[in-house]
Amino acid sequence: QKKKIAQLEKNRMLAELSATISHEIRNPLTSTRGFLQLLKQSNLTDADRKRYLDMALSGVDQSTTILTDFLNYAKPSKNLLEQLNIQQELDHTIRFITPYAADSLVSIDVSHESDTPLFILGESQKLRQCFLNIIKNAIESMPNGGKLSLRTWKHPNAVQISITDTGVGMTPSQLNAIGKPFFTTKEHGTGLGLVVVMNMIQKMNGKISFSSSLNCGTRCSISFQLK
Ligand code: ADP
Ligand code: MG
Repeated sequence: QKKKIAQLEKNRMLAELSATISHEIRNPLTSTRGFLQLLKQSNLTDADRKRYLDMALSGVDQSTTILTDFLNYAKPSKNLLEQLNIQQELDHTIRFITPYAADSLVSIDVSHESDTPLFILGESQKLRQCFLNIIKNAIESMPNGGKLSLRTWKHPNAVQISITDTGVGMTPSQLNAIGKPFFTTKEHGTGLGLVVVMNMIQKMNGKISFSSSLNCGTRCSISFQLK
């Protein structure tokens, strides 16, 4: 009975998420289409042309944001756990995010403290999606630049990962609310990034926690069983 309720709850949440996501993607795309339509006019001033182009681009960017947070989560799970090299997986995400970090004047410092590869059981796509969402939040918390520090190390039978930023930090009540669907403090936030992260880490039998101090920064700590 308990399991059934949990499953129903999950289905309800997924249905709600899907509805929100299609809505959130359709809206900016509709507005992009409108601005592209306007661009077809022949008698536009350069200023108008530029304005319409910018608006069209921002619509596309907004749609991309929500897809980025959700992309792999929406895929049916293969439910196939494979051996993953945690250092490699993290490095992969870092390569992907480096241009974005540089754009925001964020420097990245990576330290893999074990000289041997650390293996966990997980799904590569999902793990990368988790790292991506966490790192994206960290970078977004440093609008005027800062430092992102990533560490991996071995702790008896576990793999530890920490992702630390020097950003705006969170109040205790914000810290308490993160990971709840749709909780966001950002103007164009989705409040889904960490929902996805927490679900996936749990599925991979990992543990995740956050500590934060306002105006100083935030640390996300993750651990997985070493395999
Ligand atoms: P979104 O990024 O779309 O707002 P998330 O689920 O990824 O949604 O994050 C939810 C909220 O958690 C953010 O809006 C922000 O308030 C807070 N948060 C998450 N990570 C950090 C961080 N590294 N520093 C400060 N606040 C954070
Ligand atoms: Mg986010």
